[in-house]
Amino acid sequence: MADRNDELFAHARDVIPGGVNSPVRAYGSVGGTPRFLASARGAYVTDAAGREYVDLVASWGPALLGHAHPDVVAAVQDAAARGLSFGAPTEGEVRLAQLVADRVQAGGLKPVEEVRLVSTGTEATMTAIRLARGVTGRDLLVKFDGNYHGHSDGLLAAAGSGVATLALPGTAGVPAGVAAETFVVPYGDLDAVRAAFAAHGERIAAIIVEAAPANMGVVEPPAGFNRTLAEIAHAAGALLILDEVPTGFRVHPAGMWGLQVEAGEDYEPDIITFGKVIGGGMPLAALGGKRAVMEYLAPVGPVYQAGTLSGNPLSVAAGIATLELATPEVYAAVDAAATTVIDALSSALTAEGVAHTIPRVGTLFGLAFLDRKPVSYEEAKTQDAFRFTPFFHSMLASGVNLPPSIFEAWFLTAAHDAEALARIADALPAAAKAAAA
Ligand code: PLP
Repeated sequence: MADRNDELFAHARDVIPGGVNSPVRAYGSVGGTPRFLASARGAYVTDAAGREYVDLVASWGPALLGHAHPDVVAAVQDAAARGLSFGAPTEGEVRLAQLVADRVQAGGLKPVEEVRLVSTGTEATMTAIRLARGVTGRDLLVKFDGNYHGHSDGLLAAAGSGVATLALPGTAGVPAGVAAETFVVPYGDLDAVRAAFAAHGERIAAIIVEAAPANMGVVEPPAGFNRTLAEIAHAAGALLILDEVPTGFRVHPAGMWGLQVEAGEDYEPDIITFGKVIGGGMPLAALGGKRAVMEYLAPVGPVYQAGTLSGNPLSVAAGIATLELATPEVYAAVDAAATTVIDALSSALTAEGVAHTIPRVGTLFGLAFLDRKPVSYEEAKTQDAFRFTPFFHSMLASGVNLPPSIFEAWFLTAAHDAEALARIADALPAAAKAAAA
């Protein structure tokens, strides 16, 4: 008899393009049938066939506290009982904006004075770019190869033939003219950034960068990289947009920026984008910055932005509950769990003689089948990616749900207790052996 996941995938492909509502869910790079999830609790997810897995996807980041934390679920249920959506301001939105502004402080710096809530990370970065263009009166953007900022047209751009050359569309459907407003430069390459500014500095509105890249595998930002980007942008009258969608409120209470400032790398981004953890698993994202920048947004300023469901009360309730529960103890627990998994992963692969590296920023880490930590996407792509397919399927068969791509981060939660971590450790030797073959 066919597994229920197979039945659902066959049906899904009839009524949903590729059977999924976001491409990576289709297991395209590892093959096989995606698990259709029926429920999730704590560190575990259960598929449509009733099989339980220790989860290292965590909804691609939001589930910092673990899935379906009872207090978060109760907050959403309470909110739902009062009404699903009003299309009017609510008290919760004010509380959440204040929570974000209060948390994002370090080293005497406070880059977020005002916050605009939106529904997805894509909207947050798209709005951040429009805002930067509105503030500077300029059009061009600098982004990094291998950094992902959601799927708005201008951000789905691929590098052109040279560093000071404007980009080409990175996907069908993006007009060449839109892609040509973006420079795509190699990550970590400050000379390339300087070359773009030397060629077109007076036309560049902003640099956008992942606070720590998590979409070409995890990449540890070179020391001083983000700070230097801020210096280059500011010297040319441009803004720095720091994309903290996966890292914000996950790697540190004040995000990757907070982690860096505490480590002595102090700089001030002009706009920070948030997503994932800020909504605790509900559709919610945000952008924040200093009042002087944020008040270019409508209705105060000339930059239009809106949303029927922006700041909807269920998402806001989940976000407030999550941030209030995300105490230093939570971060310490996730950090310790990350160390445990990294150590077990590295030992298992070393025992099988598999070259690997596990880049880590705070609690966020990833695996690369490479003998050194990659800095650029070009370098990340030279790894033995073929090893990931047997590794992934071995883990899945042992009851561990990994992100189905070597270029994705592994996400832990505060609910990954000793038992969940032991299950991961038990699964690793066989997966390492499969990867070695
Ligand atoms: N920015 C970064 C760095 C991301 O990793 C993502 C999604 O993973 C986004 C933006 C887009 O967020 P969303 O998927 O909520 O649109």
